[in-house]
Amino acid sequence: MTGTLDAHGNAYTVETLQEKADRLRAEQGLPPESQHSGPQPCHWYDDGHGGRYLIPGCAGRAQDPDNADACGCPDLATQLDKAHREIEALKAELQGARTWHAYVAMTVDAHPDGRKIMKQAANRAEDDR
Ligand SMILES: [Zn+2]
Repeated sequence: MTGTLDAHGNAYTVETLQEKADRLRAEQGLPPESQHSGPQPCHWYDDGHGGRYLIPGCAGRAQDPDNADACGCPDLATQLDKAHREIEALKAELQGARTWHAYVAMTVDAHPDGRKIMKQAANRAEDDR
């Protein structure tokens, strides 16, 4: 929400379209859109007023919505495999960054101005928070 003043100087708040969408989703017990990332498999959307709509996640279902067999979305096992591979890749990346950090820290520590450099780095990290 954004605070704004009207023509008479009275404060009021403006709800952005994203905030409105997330509020409506929350009223339906759904997580905010921002928690979704990437394409989602085919799923049904309940508008809360008796309407139920298919949100296609694949071309097959988009072209033939009533045919569940046309769905080409990955099944849960495939999605889980993909998630595990992504986690492993992220762990490897994190390990690489930790190794690099350790070598940089050792090198700076051995430098005559090492303490001063580390203090400046700590201050910058603190400022970034
Ligand atoms: Zn699908």
